[in-house]
Amino acid sequence: MLTPGASIGILGGGQLGRMTAMAATRLGYRIHVYATEADSPAAQVAAEATVGGYGDGAKLDAFAESVDVATFEFENIPANAVRRVASLTPVLPRPEILEISQHRLNEKNFLRSIGVATTDFQDVADVAALARAVGSLKRRAVLKSVRMGYDGKGQVAIDPGTDAAQAWAAMGASHGILEAFVDFRCEVSVIVARSADGDTVFYPPVENRHVNHILDTTVAPARLSPETARAAEAIAREIATRLDLVGVLAVEMFVTRSGDILVNELAPRPHNSGHWTIDACATSQFEQLVRAICGLPLGSTERHSDAVMKNLIGEDVRLWPQALADPTARLHLYGKRTIRPGRKMGHVTRLLPRRI
Ligand code: AMP
Repeated sequence: MLTPGASIGILGGGQLGRMTAMAATRLGYRIHVYATEADSPAAQVAAEATVGGYGDGAKLDAFAESVDVATFEFENIPANAVRRVASLTPVLPRPEILEISQHRLNEKNFLRSIGVATTDFQDVADVAALARAVGSLKRRAVLKSVRMGYDGKGQVAIDPGTDAAQAWAAMGASHGILEAFVDFRCEVSVIVARSADGDTVFYPPVENRHVNHILDTTVAPARLSPETARAAEAIAREIATRLDLVGVLAVEMFVTRSGDILVNELAPRPHNSGHWTIDACATSQFEQLVRAICGLPLGSTERHSDAVMKNLIGEDVRLWPQALADPTARLHLYGKRTIRPGRKMGHVTRLLPRRI
């Protein structure tokens, strides 16, 4: 067990690292952030920060040697960098889990191998494979790059008759996956935390609404039938167990119009759809991560309020005074100095009386 006072390394400097650092610091841990940019959101609240590239072996080694355990807050950290750190200090969740989630095809194949339903998909390794797939397409599909995809980046809608060469160029990657388009009733996610001794806790499924492929609003809990909610939780638990997760994992799912659940994506880290847990639950997703990787007992996920979390994206951040004026709202700003379209600048969680 790593007791308070120990040092936790975080690879990545974004808001997820910032909120993890804040939770860890409250528990008395020291945080060392490794980020590619100076003055990152996470570094602003950390005891120590290294600015370095993910290819800078000497800096990665020094970072690894300075901490008792390391984690990551960003999915697309190059696997080599994570493995290098892991050769010198424990990295949790295991780097292999990160590598599965970094590759959509591996992720889907893993899910299928453990009997978890996903959207139908085809491996499209080149433009010729895409042209063949489009030729036999009956319904709308989505072409996604297998790597470096998040917030809808590298995704192209494909219809029967779409020009394969143009779509391939628009995807902008060397390897793709063609997924059936799901006409879902809603998108939900379940966040699960698991400790090294296999103790598993989860938060209730929440509903996620996207605008321009970016999460806009999370409604907690999701308005699902009790059966569907229990099924979503069971899927998340099964995935965490089969991955031998130590840490926090978000499982993004589609609920179809017939009530079936299809897993879309895994994120082995705190997730935007879990930010509401800071203000509405006994233990936040960020504290669960700290507890799990330090070998502390996991905390209660008890929800004292329902919540609606709204991201402040780009210019939305200028609405912060309104959030301050609302007694039901809790404002979180990430310390980013430059506003850019699509950039997550902060979020607001509105607390509501718990319904059930
Ligand atoms: P992803 O990067 O896979 O999480 O996709 C981003 C968003 O695009 C999802 O949250 C959905 O809103 C939408 N999306 C992705 N894949 C599909 C699909 N197969 N069918 C319908 N919508 C999708």
